[in-house]
Amino acid sequence: YEKIDHVDVGKDELAEIGRTFNGMMEVLETNYKKQEQFVSNASHELKTPLTVIESYSKLLLRRGFTNEKVAKEALEAIVNESSRMNELIVQMLELAKNKENMSLSIDKINLSQLLENTLLQMHQAYSREFELHGDSNLFAYTDSQKIKQLFFILLDNARKYSDDKVIVTATKNEHFISVAIEDFGVGIPKEQLPHLFDRFYRVNQDRNRKTGGTGLGLAIARELAERLDIEIKVESKVGYGTCFTLLIPINDDFSEVDSK
Ligand code: ADP
Repeated sequence: YEKIDHVDVGKDELAEIGRTFNGMMEVLETNYKKQEQFVSNASHELKTPLTVIESYSKLLLRRGFTNEKVAKEALEAIVNESSRMNELIVQMLELAKNKENMSLSIDKINLSQLLENTLLQMHQAYSREFELHGDSNLFAYTDSQKIKQLFFILLDNARKYSDDKVIVTATKNEHFISVAIEDFGVGIPKEQLPHLFDRFYRVNQDRNRKTGGTGLGLAIARELAERLDIEIKVESKVGYGTCFTLLIPINDDFSEVDSK
Protein backbone atom coordinates (compact mmCIF):
# COMPACT_ATOMS: atom_id res chain seq x y z
CA TYR A 1 0.00 0.00 0.00
CA GLU A 2 1.09 3.53 -0.71
CA LYS A 3 1.04 5.72 2.35
CA ILE A 4 -1.54 8.50 2.13
CA ASP A 5 -0.06 11.73 3.54
CA HIS A 6 -2.72 14.19 2.69
CA VAL A 7 -6.24 13.96 1.28
CA ASP A 8 -8.56 16.77 0.42
CA VAL A 9 -12.06 15.89 1.58
CA GLY A 10 -15.12 18.03 1.96
CA LYS A 11 -17.74 17.69 4.70
CA ASP A 12 -20.02 15.53 2.51
CA GLU A 13 -17.25 13.16 1.63
CA LEU A 14 -16.23 12.92 5.27
CA ALA A 15 -19.82 12.09 6.23
CA GLU A 16 -19.90 9.46 3.47
CA ILE A 17 -16.65 7.92 4.73
CA GLY A 18 -18.14 7.93 8.24
CA ARG A 19 -21.26 6.10 7.05
CA THR A 20 -19.22 3.53 5.14
CA PHE A 21 -17.05 2.95 8.19
CA ASN A 22 -20.10 2.50 10.44
CA GLY A 23 -21.59 0.06 7.93
CA MET A 24 -18.36 -1.94 7.88
CA MET A 25 -18.26 -2.04 11.67
CA GLU A 26 -21.84 -3.33 11.78
CA VAL A 27 -21.03 -6.14 9.35
CA LEU A 28 -17.91 -7.05 11.36
CA GLU A 29 -19.88 -7.04 14.60
CA THR A 30 -22.66 -9.24 13.15
CA ASN A 31 -20.08 -11.68 11.78
CA TYR A 32 -18.29 -11.76 15.11
CA LYS A 33 -21.54 -12.44 16.97
CA LYS A 34 -22.44 -15.22 14.51
CA GLN A 35 -19.00 -16.77 15.00
CA GLU A 36 -19.36 -16.56 18.78
CA GLN A 37 -22.80 -18.17 18.59
CA PHE A 38 -21.41 -20.95 16.39
CA VAL A 39 -18.57 -21.73 18.79
CA SER A 40 -20.95 -21.73 21.74
CA ASN A 41 -23.46 -24.03 19.97
CA ALA A 42 -20.71 -26.30 18.71
CA SER A 43 -19.20 -26.70 22.20
CA HIS A 44 -22.61 -27.50 23.62
CA GLU A 45 -23.42 -30.05 20.90
CA LEU A 46 -20.06 -31.78 21.33
CA LYS A 47 -20.22 -31.73 25.10
CA THR A 48 -23.53 -33.60 25.28
CA PRO A 49 -22.33 -36.85 23.64
CA LEU A 50 -19.00 -36.57 25.46
CA THR A 51 -20.78 -36.46 28.83
CA VAL A 52 -22.75 -39.58 27.90
CA ILE A 53 -19.54 -41.35 26.83
CA GLU A 54 -17.85 -40.41 30.09
CA SER A 55 -20.67 -41.64 32.32
CA TYR A 56 -21.09 -44.93 30.42
CA SER A 57 -17.33 -45.51 30.53
CA LYS A 58 -17.38 -45.08 34.30
CA LEU A 59 -20.31 -47.49 34.52
CA LEU A 60 -18.38 -49.92 32.36
CA LEU A 61 -15.38 -49.72 34.71
CA ARG A 62 -17.51 -50.21 37.82
CA ARG A 63 -19.89 -52.93 36.72
CA GLY A 64 -18.98 -53.98 33.19
CA PHE A 65 -16.57 -56.77 34.17
CA THR A 66 -19.15 -58.60 36.28
CA ASN A 67 -22.35 -57.83 34.39
CA GLU A 68 -22.41 -58.62 30.69
CA LYS A 69 -25.76 -56.85 30.12
CA VAL A 70 -24.45 -53.60 31.60
CA ALA A 71 -21.27 -53.93 29.53
CA LYS A 72 -23.26 -54.36 26.31
CA GLU A 73 -25.55 -51.42 27.06
CA ALA A 74 -22.62 -49.17 27.93
CA LEU A 75 -20.60 -50.12 24.87
CA GLU A 76 -23.58 -49.59 22.57
CA ALA A 77 -24.16 -46.13 24.02
CA ILE A 78 -20.46 -45.29 23.66
CA VAL A 79 -20.43 -46.42 20.02
CA ASN A 80 -23.61 -44.43 19.22
CA GLU A 81 -22.43 -41.24 20.87
CA SER A 82 -18.98 -41.50 19.26
CA SER A 83 -20.61 -41.82 15.83
CA ARG A 84 -22.70 -38.75 16.61
CA MET A 85 -19.61 -36.78 17.60
CA ASN A 86 -17.90 -37.95 14.45
CA GLU A 87 -20.84 -36.80 12.30
CA LEU A 88 -20.89 -33.43 14.05
CA ILE A 89 -17.18 -32.89 13.53
CA VAL A 90 -17.32 -33.90 9.85
CA GLN A 91 -20.20 -31.44 9.29
CA MET A 92 -18.54 -28.65 11.25
CA LEU A 93 -15.37 -29.05 9.18
CA GLU A 94 -17.52 -28.94 6.06
CA LEU A 95 -18.98 -25.61 7.23
CA ALA A 96 -15.58 -24.26 8.23
CA LYS A 97 -14.44 -24.45 4.62
CA ASN A 98 -14.65 -20.97 3.33
CA LYS A 99 -17.46 -20.73 0.79
CA GLU A 100 -15.52 -18.38 -1.45
CA ASN A 101 -12.58 -20.76 -1.52
CA MET A 102 -14.72 -23.84 -2.13
CA SER A 103 -13.19 -25.04 -5.37
CA LEU A 104 -15.58 -26.11 -8.09
CA SER A 105 -15.10 -28.67 -10.78
CA ILE A 106 -17.62 -27.76 -13.47
CA ASP A 107 -18.61 -30.30 -16.10
CA LYS A 108 -21.54 -30.94 -18.34
CA ILE A 109 -23.51 -33.50 -16.40
CA ASN A 110 -26.65 -35.48 -17.04
CA LEU A 111 -28.76 -34.37 -14.07
CA SER A 112 -31.47 -36.95 -14.77
CA GLN A 113 -28.91 -39.74 -14.66
CA LEU A 114 -27.30 -38.34 -11.54
CA LEU A 115 -30.69 -38.14 -9.81
CA GLU A 116 -31.54 -41.69 -10.86
CA ASN A 117 -28.26 -43.00 -9.40
CA THR A 118 -28.66 -40.98 -6.20
CA LEU A 119 -32.22 -42.23 -5.65
CA LEU A 120 -31.12 -45.81 -6.25
CA GLN A 121 -28.35 -45.40 -3.64
CA MET A 122 -30.84 -43.94 -1.15
CA HIS A 123 -33.28 -46.79 -1.83
CA GLN A 124 -30.57 -49.38 -1.30
CA ALA A 125 -29.31 -47.75 1.89
CA TYR A 126 -32.67 -47.21 3.57
CA SER A 127 -35.11 -49.60 1.84
CA ARG A 128 -37.41 -46.68 1.17
CA GLU A 129 -39.33 -45.75 -1.95
CA PHE A 130 -37.98 -42.82 -3.99
CA GLU A 131 -39.86 -41.98 -7.22
CA LEU A 132 -38.44 -39.92 -10.07
CA HIS A 133 -40.82 -38.00 -12.36
CA GLY A 134 -40.57 -35.28 -15.00
CA ASP A 135 -38.27 -34.72 -17.94
CA SER A 136 -35.45 -37.03 -18.84
CA ASN A 137 -32.04 -36.12 -20.19
CA LEU A 138 -31.72 -32.81 -18.41
CA PHE A 139 -28.20 -31.50 -18.71
CA ALA A 140 -26.50 -28.80 -16.68
CA TYR A 141 -23.04 -27.36 -16.29
CA THR A 142 -22.32 -27.79 -12.62
CA ASP A 143 -20.15 -29.57 -10.06
CA SER A 144 -21.49 -33.12 -9.99
CA GLN A 145 -20.04 -34.03 -6.59
CA LYS A 146 -21.36 -30.90 -4.89
CA ILE A 147 -24.81 -31.02 -6.43
CA LYS A 148 -25.04 -34.68 -5.44
CA GLN A 149 -24.14 -33.76 -1.87
CA LEU A 150 -26.92 -31.16 -1.96
CA PHE A 151 -29.45 -33.73 -3.24
CA PHE A 152 -28.31 -36.18 -0.55
CA ILE A 153 -28.94 -33.70 2.28
CA LEU A 154 -32.48 -32.92 1.08
CA LEU A 155 -33.34 -36.54 0.28
CA ASP A 156 -31.99 -37.71 3.61
CA ASN A 157 -34.18 -35.17 5.43
CA ALA A 158 -37.23 -36.15 3.35
CA ARG A 159 -36.65 -39.75 4.44
CA LYS A 160 -35.90 -38.92 8.08
CA TYR A 161 -38.96 -36.74 8.62
CA SER A 162 -41.52 -38.92 6.83
CA ASP A 163 -42.53 -42.58 6.63
CA ASP A 164 -44.03 -42.62 3.17
CA LYS A 165 -42.43 -42.49 -0.27
CA VAL A 166 -40.41 -39.49 -1.45
CA ILE A 167 -41.24 -38.00 -4.85
CA VAL A 168 -38.65 -36.17 -6.92
CA THR A 169 -39.77 -34.18 -9.96
CA ALA A 170 -37.25 -32.71 -12.39
CA THR A 171 -38.43 -30.31 -15.07
CA LYS A 172 -36.99 -27.59 -17.24
CA ASN A 173 -38.30 -24.20 -18.25
CA GLU A 174 -36.73 -21.27 -20.03
CA HIS A 175 -34.53 -20.23 -17.13
CA PHE A 176 -34.15 -23.13 -14.75
CA ILE A 177 -34.00 -26.81 -14.24
CA SER A 178 -36.28 -27.32 -11.29
CA VAL A 179 -35.82 -30.30 -8.98
CA ALA A 180 -38.60 -30.69 -6.40
CA ILE A 181 -38.10 -33.12 -3.51
CA GLU A 182 -41.43 -33.82 -1.86
CA ASP A 183 -42.23 -35.84 1.22
CA PHE A 184 -45.48 -36.61 3.01
CA GLY A 185 -44.14 -36.40 6.53
CA VAL A 186 -44.39 -34.27 9.66
CA GLY A 187 -44.09 -30.91 7.90
CA ILE A 188 -42.63 -27.70 9.33
CA PRO A 189 -44.57 -24.89 11.05
CA LYS A 190 -44.65 -21.74 8.91
CA GLU A 191 -42.99 -19.52 11.53
CA GLN A 192 -39.98 -21.86 11.66
CA LEU A 193 -39.31 -21.84 7.90
CA PRO A 194 -37.12 -18.69 7.95
CA HIS A 195 -34.69 -20.30 10.45
CA LEU A 196 -34.42 -23.69 8.80
CA PHE A 197 -31.06 -23.02 7.16
CA ASP A 198 -29.43 -21.59 10.30
CA ARG A 199 -26.58 -23.57 11.83
CA PHE A 200 -27.74 -26.01 14.53
CA TYR A 201 -31.38 -25.05 14.03
CA ARG A 202 -33.84 -27.88 14.57
CA VAL A 203 -37.61 -27.68 14.63
CA ASN A 204 -38.62 -27.99 18.29
CA GLN A 205 -40.11 -31.44 18.32
CA ASP A 206 -37.05 -32.85 16.53
CA ARG A 207 -34.57 -31.68 19.14
CA ASN A 208 -35.11 -34.67 21.36
CA ARG A 209 -35.87 -37.13 18.62
CA LYS A 210 -33.88 -40.33 18.56
CA THR A 211 -33.46 -40.09 14.77
CA GLY A 212 -30.11 -38.36 15.16
CA GLY A 213 -29.46 -35.27 13.09
CA THR A 214 -27.22 -32.37 13.94
CA GLY A 215 -29.06 -29.32 12.66
CA LEU A 216 -26.15 -28.64 10.28
CA GLY A 217 -27.38 -30.39 7.12
CA LEU A 218 -29.42 -27.52 5.75
CA ALA A 219 -26.72 -24.98 6.68
CA ILE A 220 -24.31 -26.98 4.51
CA ALA A 221 -26.99 -27.23 1.80
CA ARG A 222 -27.32 -23.44 1.77
CA GLU A 223 -23.56 -22.92 1.38
CA LEU A 224 -23.41 -25.46 -1.46
CA ALA A 225 -26.43 -23.92 -3.19
CA GLU A 226 -25.01 -20.39 -2.95
CA ARG A 227 -21.71 -21.56 -4.38
CA LEU A 228 -23.49 -23.34 -7.26
CA ASP A 229 -25.85 -20.40 -7.89
CA ILE A 230 -28.85 -22.54 -7.02
CA GLU A 231 -31.94 -21.11 -5.33
CA ILE A 232 -33.68 -23.27 -2.72
CA LYS A 233 -37.39 -22.79 -2.03
CA VAL A 234 -39.35 -24.57 0.64
CA GLU A 235 -43.06 -25.11 1.11
CA SER A 236 -44.49 -27.09 3.97
CA LYS A 237 -47.67 -27.90 5.84
CA VAL A 238 -47.66 -29.46 9.28
CA GLY A 239 -49.03 -32.98 9.14
CA TYR A 240 -49.01 -33.08 5.33
CA GLY A 241 -45.41 -32.82 4.25
CA THR A 242 -42.66 -30.69 2.83
CA CYS A 243 -41.34 -29.81 -0.60
CA PHE A 244 -37.86 -28.41 -1.19
CA THR A 245 -37.34 -27.07 -4.72
CA LEU A 246 -33.96 -26.41 -6.26
CA LEU A 247 -33.79 -23.93 -9.12
CA ILE A 248 -30.66 -24.71 -11.07
CA PRO A 249 -29.92 -21.87 -13.50
CA ILE A 250 -29.71 -22.59 -17.18
CA ASN A 251 -26.96 -20.86 -18.99
CA ASP A 252 -27.82 -21.27 -22.66
CA ASP A 253 -24.14 -21.37 -23.55
CA PHE A 254 -23.62 -24.29 -21.26
CA SER A 255 -26.79 -26.19 -20.65
CA GLU A 256 -29.27 -27.89 -22.92
CA VAL A 257 -31.85 -30.65 -23.13
CA ASP A 258 -30.64 -33.34 -25.48
CA SER A 259 -33.51 -34.88 -27.34
CA LYS A 260 -32.30 -38.41 -27.87
P1 ADP B 1 -30.94 -32.26 10.97
O1 ADP B 1 -29.60 -32.87 11.03
O2 ADP B 1 -31.55 -32.01 12.32
O3 ADP B 1 -31.89 -32.97 10.05
P2 ADP B 1 -31.00 -30.02 9.10
O4 ADP B 1 -30.20 -28.77 9.11
O5 ADP B 1 -30.85 -30.92 7.91
O6 ADP B 1 -30.68 -30.78 10.44
O7 ADP B 1 -32.53 -29.63 9.24
C1 ADP B 1 -32.90 -28.70 10.26
C2 ADP B 1 -34.27 -29.04 10.80
O8 ADP B 1 -35.26 -28.79 9.82
C3 ADP B 1 -34.44 -30.53 11.18
O9 ADP B 1 -33.99 -30.79 12.47
C4 ADP B 1 -35.94 -30.68 11.05
O10 ADP B 1 -36.56 -30.23 12.24
C5 ADP B 1 -36.32 -29.71 9.94
N1 ADP B 1 -36.49 -30.38 8.62
C6 ADP B 1 -35.59 -30.44 7.61
N2 ADP B 1 -36.09 -31.10 6.55
C7 ADP B 1 -37.33 -31.48 6.88
C8 ADP B 1 -38.38 -32.20 6.20
N3 ADP B 1 -38.23 -32.67 4.97
N4 ADP B 1 -39.55 -32.39 6.88
C9 ADP B 1 -39.72 -31.89 8.13
N5 ADP B 1 -38.78 -31.21 8.82
C10 ADP B 1 -37.59 -31.01 8.21
